[in-house]
Amino acid sequence: MSRACKVAVIGAGVSGLVAGRELLREGHQVVVFEKADRVGGTWVYDPRTDSDPVGLDPFRRVVHGSLYASLRTNLPRPLMGFRDYPFPDPSKTPGDRRAFPGPEEVLRFIEAFARDSGVLEVVRFRAEVVRVAMGRRNDEWMVEWQTEAEAEKKKEEFEAVVVCNGHHTEFRRLQIVVIIGMGASACDISKEISKVAKEVHLASRSTDIEAGKLDGHINIWQHSMVDSVHEDGKVDFVDGSSLIADAIIYCTGYKYNFPFLEMDDTVNIDDNRVGPLYKHVFPPRVAPWLSFVGLPYKTIIFRMLELQSKWIAQVLSNKIALPPEEDMITSVNNLYLQMEETGKPKHHTHSLGADKAEYMNYLAAEVGEPPIEEWRFQMYDTLLERIYSHHDDGGYRDEWDVDH
Ligand code: FAD
Repeated sequence: MSRACKVAVIGAGVSGLVAGRELLREGHQVVVFEKADRVGGTWVYDPRTDSDPVGLDPFRRVVHGSLYASLRTNLPRPLMGFRDYPFPDPSKTPGDRRAFPGPEEVLRFIEAFARDSGVLEVVRFRAEVVRVAMGRRNDEWMVEWQTEAEAEKKKEEFEAVVVCNGHHTEFRRLQIVVIIGMGASACDISKEISKVAKEVHLASRSTDIEAGKLDGHINIWQHSMVDSVHEDGKVDFVDGSSLIADAIIYCTGYKYNFPFLEMDDTVNIDDNRVGPLYKHVFPPRVAPWLSFVGLPYKTIIFRMLELQSKWIAQVLSNKIALPPEEDMITSVNNLYLQMEETGKPKHHTHSLGADKAEYMNYLAAEVGEPPIEEWRFQMYDTLLERIYSHHDDGGYRDEWDVDH
């Protein structure tokens, strides 16, 4: 029999909005808590940076957004929309018509989605969730939130909680620096800086890199992992080489963080693995009453958020059954075992990469949708090669023929 639940969604970024839409569609009663005064999360550009860039001061000003001013999407329009609410055709937008637009265009899309889906009406703005804990009766969640204007915390009970707080805020700290890494942003930024700097040096912990000048570049060098950094700016690399740096930029990525969640061992974070989570979404012990949207990466993100949201909404309304708790735990353990056998590090647990099609099509089948079109995955894979290629100066965004 169909069931309607009272559900709290934490965050009104893309994950929270699409989760909100799917929950409303399933007839659930929804409140979306958003600490900012607008929707969009990551896509709201904020020029400020954390007040303590090393992140040691617990009272530092934390800036949610992590976009840089020059950012353009690294996925083109066809990979940035939802199944039934695609990213607008360039001919139909008054704004940025590029295939890989800047953040304002993405934000415009997200705001329109929030409005058209009706989710905007259930967002509680300036409401930061500060605590989520199982209530006394053990069959409901106590959600506590706070506004900047009022010091007093408010409480409300919910049957289910969907966590959509994003994972690009809490940056990973290293004792030593200069890992300009190998992530998409590191590649973007190094290419951009090389146009204005005399020399750019990339340090990577990856063991299969060849140290030396990068082919096709006159001022970019690649190095092994940083060994130590000295007060005078001297950077020693593990291969014994060193140089004096004027500036050191951390492109070390981010880590998952759920400061509001009181969960004992039901779900915890170990070396950036959030677990145990069945299919990266449900902690088996409290499924389906707690769920997470948006943890996996290296995939077609918006579509994945949509599928995860549909799955959660339909499980909550009893349309779809989850396997028994033991089977979910076995599935999680099998994933961990498989990772160990293939040498995939724990901190990459939520990196889908080659498994993205299998994962997304599993979700699609669960919610009764056709598989994602193969061309989208091909487009994604081809793009990734260009993003991580040092031979590409970012020009792929302008050269890309989306229609092809
Ligand atoms: P967020 O956008 O981070 O939203 C989380 C929301 O939760 C925020 O509004 C925040 O204020 C709110 N919140 C957090 N904690 C609380 C709390 N305690 N109480 C209440 N509210 C809270 N994806 C793509 O598809 N294409 C791209 O080109 C692309 N480029 C990217 C470039 C960069 C530099 C980064 C960092 C990410 C990029 N991404 C890209 C991935 C991006 O993370 C996703 O597109 C998407 O924005 C994730 O949405 P989200 O809702 O999960 O998280």
